[in-house]
Amino acid sequence: MKAIRGATTIERDNAEQVKVCVKELLDAIFKVNELTREDAVCIIFSSTKDVRSFYPAKAAREAGYSSCALFSAEEPDIKGALKRCIRVMMLTEKEITPKHVYLHGAAMLRQDLTKIINIAIDGPAGSGKSTVSKMVASKLGILHLDTGAMYRAFALKCFNEGADTSDEEAIEKIISATDIQVKYENGVQHTYLDGNDVSESIRKPEISLLASTVSALKCVREKMVEQQRKTAESMSCVIDGRDIGTHVLPQTKFKFFLTATPEVRATRRAEENAAKGFNQAYEDVLSEIIKRDKQDKTRKISPLTQADDAVFVDSSEMNAEEVAQFILNKVQEKI
Ligand code: C5P
Repeated sequence: MKAIRGATTIERDNAEQVKVCVKELLDAIFKVNELTREDAVCIIFSSTKDVRSFYPAKAAREAGYSSCALFSAEEPDIKGALKRCIRVMMLTEKEITPKHVYLHGAAMLRQDLTKIINIAIDGPAGSGKSTVSKMVASKLGILHLDTGAMYRAFALKCFNEGADTSDEEAIEKIISATDIQVKYENGVQHTYLDGNDVSESIRKPEISLLASTVSALKCVREKMVEQQRKTAESMSCVIDGRDIGTHVLPQTKFKFFLTATPEVRATRRAEENAAKGFNQAYEDVLSEIIKRDKQDKTRKISPLTQADDAVFVDSSEMNAEEVAQFILNKVQEKI
């Protein structure tokens, strides 16, 4: 079951205003979540004590939202609360990533959900960026953009074509004929290479180092960065990579640099690989991580480095939940 929230405010307390604003709020919720009225299991309203003229649930029924259970309740009178505010929670069994809707000044209740926010998490391989980014995104009800997957997808193409990655001209030709897309299915990122879902094959260990090699090339970075910026402009997301805080989204105020010792990172990566059925000895993972760190930190364009205004997190002795909570607390402080 998924819960979608929303709120609105009315200018004056009269029946007409309640009816218009409730309909507007519900219509917006169903539209942005791509739901039909039949998808609602129940809709629960609460309103501040200064909304007395009409039941929001009745307004919903009159607006045609009548195929599910409807309920209205009155909120306690809390000092400093928004005036004439109607809140809603709609439950659906559809497997969606809920998009919450706040209208007419009610946005100030949840600025984290209504403004586009981009949370940049950079760091070296195995620092836990991906796991933590997924947790933070899920807690905030926003999406996670794994930019490494895009470089990996291009590396896979070069691998499949047996391309010479030291020949920049040849790579330029390949990249200009390559289509890499990120799509979300039930809130989970799927990476498409020329129309094929390559989300699993890009995780193979032999692709990791190649991704680091091709990502050092100007023509590759330019194309990926342009696409990443467009995606980030269009939606709130936690975006992880190597250069997000320094180069892709230098203007975002939410920046984190996550790291851990190479040994801890290699242990995590070896465990992750084993879970995916890619068995690689710990020593090999460690040497690959050290090699990748070196390549990523010393490349000429957008090397892996901490942005001056990023919050540094050493996760060597923290578990993923602790890191995610730390980041969430910092984000809440800055919103
Ligand atoms: O994060 P992940 O290990 O999947 O990234 C694979 C490689 O892609 C990295 O080693 C790095 O060289 C490159 N990358 C990058 N910039 C990003 C994300 C990844 O250069 N924003």
